[in-house]
Amino acid sequence: MQNIQFIDNYSKNTDLLNIINKIIKQNDIQLNDVISLLETKDIQHLGLVSNYLREIQFGKTVTFINNLILNYTNVCITNCKFCAFYRPPNHQESYTVSQDEILKRIIFAKSNFNIKQVLFQGGHNPKLNIEYFEEIFRTISLKCPDVAIHGLSASEIDMISKVSRSSTKEVLQRLKKSGLASLPGAGAEILDDEVKDIISPLKISSDTWLRIMEEAHLLGIKSSATMMYGTVESIEQRARHLMKILSLQRKTNGFMAFIPWSFEPNKTEMQDKGLVRYPLGGFELLKMISVSRIIFHGLIDHLQSSWLTNGVGMAQLAIFHGSDDFGGTLIGEEVVSATGARSTELLAGNIINSIKAMKFTPAERNNNYEIIKYY
Ligand code: SF4
Repeated sequence: MQNIQFIDNYSKNTDLLNIINKIIKQNDIQLNDVISLLETKDIQHLGLVSNYLREIQFGKTVTFINNLILNYTNVCITNCKFCAFYRPPNHQESYTVSQDEILKRIIFAKSNFNIKQVLFQGGHNPKLNIEYFEEIFRTISLKCPDVAIHGLSASEIDMISKVSRSSTKEVLQRLKKSGLASLPGAGAEILDDEVKDIISPLKISSDTWLRIMEEAHLLGIKSSATMMYGTVESIEQRARHLMKILSLQRKTNGFMAFIPWSFEPNKTEMQDKGLVRYPLGGFELLKMISVSRIIFHGLIDHLQSSWLTNGVGMAQLAIFHGSDDFGGTLIGEEVVSATGARSTELLAGNIINSIKAMKFTPAERNNNYEIIKYY
């Protein structure tokens, strides 16, 4: 890593330099180091390092995936205070998408947008047992074998295990057999139970999220890891979250990507109660992306920019702060759109043009982050 010397020469921020050098050159990451990185206002310095780390690994390539989001049900009994999407059982706006409709949407998205992934994401619906998911996953695998099923957060897996009275490990085994390819990282929010007790007291604990992820990795099911920041957490709690992800990755090597999300408070109970009044915005996003690239360097390869919650312009800037993946086209997204934040789907052409506008090379990838086409 001798080339990082140019940054040493450029910067006069010696405290920050010492921490970055310790992390990158000696692979020594302590909680206090992560806190210091998250507390700095010097995002130009962080950006120089994180952009350099992205560049040596990915050159000028930035990836994306053509995908469909299937928010199969908005019925949920977990009532997270940050969520504008869910409806209680029997609410007049509640829905559960039928198996026929799910298949119809996937086949439509396959023929019109050549999707390579369907992202299954829904509420904790006490009426949906494991057979519902097994049946639909089997059908998708049979009818659309080249569309990977990236689905069900750790908390949905936990819910299915409760409804079906089986262990989470057994649920994962059965779903893998039915065609589940990988797990999204949703449901982590901040892996600190003091935060969870405030923002999502009925949701799984931090340890349960980590346990289910570990079970999945040991069964050969890869996953993403996420962080939803910008609610009530402290910088130290964010740092602890990152350290927990780091520690599990050292053990299982099962995370393919890390995705920091910024919380969108619009139309949520947290905003109604005055707990969070506004989203944190671009400065914090670029810092989160940079810090993630620095501390996960050599451990988690891919870092997604969050165009969904921060917009395309910020996702472009995120590339210069260490992000190598633009995420998905997200056709059909309904969770973030429930906040009214912004348009929540992009066509591949929009993503390709946004990447080209930054003089990078867009590349379409599959569910395993393998490149299938350069543009
Ligand atoms: S975030 Fe998920 S678990 Fe929480 S209320 Fe919304 S749909 Fe339910």
